[in-house]
Amino acid sequence: MRIMLDGRYLPGNARVNRDLLITLRNIAKALKFGIRYDAQRELVLINSKDSSIPPLPSEHLADERTEDENARLAGKVICLDPGHGGSDPGALGPTGTTEKDNTLAIALSLKEKLEKNGATVVMTRDSDSEVVSAETSAAEDLSTRVDIANQSEVDLFISIHNDAFSSQTAAGTTTFHYGDKDSIKLANLVQQGLCEKLGTKNRGARFASLYVLRYTNMPSILIEIAFISNMVEEMLLSSVDGRDNAAESICDSILKYYKV
Ligand SMILES: [Zn+2]
Repeated sequence: MRIMLDGRYLPGNARVNRDLLITLRNIAKALKFGIRYDAQRELVLINSKDSSIPPLPSEHLADERTEDENARLAGKVICLDPGHGGSDPGALGPTGTTEKDNTLAIALSLKEKLEKNGATVVMTRDSDSEVVSAETSAAEDLSTRVDIANQSEVDLFISIHNDAFSSQTAAGTTTFHYGDKDSIKLANLVQQGLCEKLGTKNRGARFASLYVLRYTNMPSILIEIAFISNMVEEMLLSSVDGRDNAAESICDSILKYYKV
């Protein structure tokens, strides 16, 4: 919630709270200031000159709203975990594309979008390399990913993968969680958003006892964006547009998660 005094934004963006609104209203009343709350924009408008007519938004509102939107994830730390990497390509597509490339590209695009909204992003890897080294076991690779998130005390952990199956007809998006309330909420939002944005079959937000979900201390999800083993979805996953749409959709869902 932002506060605008005489057409100018005050610094800060507090969580909407009924007690805070009542207190502000009482202060305004005592000072004979006009006050109005715009719930849709989560904005308190205060006019120090006129107690009866609240101020209209200034003509610079569009610019200032962008600024406001930029700070929607301020203070949030989000860990992005692009699956596989380096000597571990993950699943392979029919034309030879790799899961490790797709997951990294989507994660890097998502990082940029989250940072534009004010979030701090921690990556388990940000290049085509193993999280530890080529010699480490799969178990050690996973525990390192979890350690990075836990030690950085991030607010959300998001692991990005591609699905694969022996039959090329398998298709769609799946988002996994470990059953806690917040992870389920995030998984549902991400799952729905991706299916709408990418037009993929909705395989559901589901419980799974996956290592990176089980041992992370914060709400965490693992997204199987689409099937790399499916010809059509392989194209989606390896195209700039497909990757960007996936990232945009996940970013929107994270914004919704913090708003709902
Ligand atoms: Zn994978």
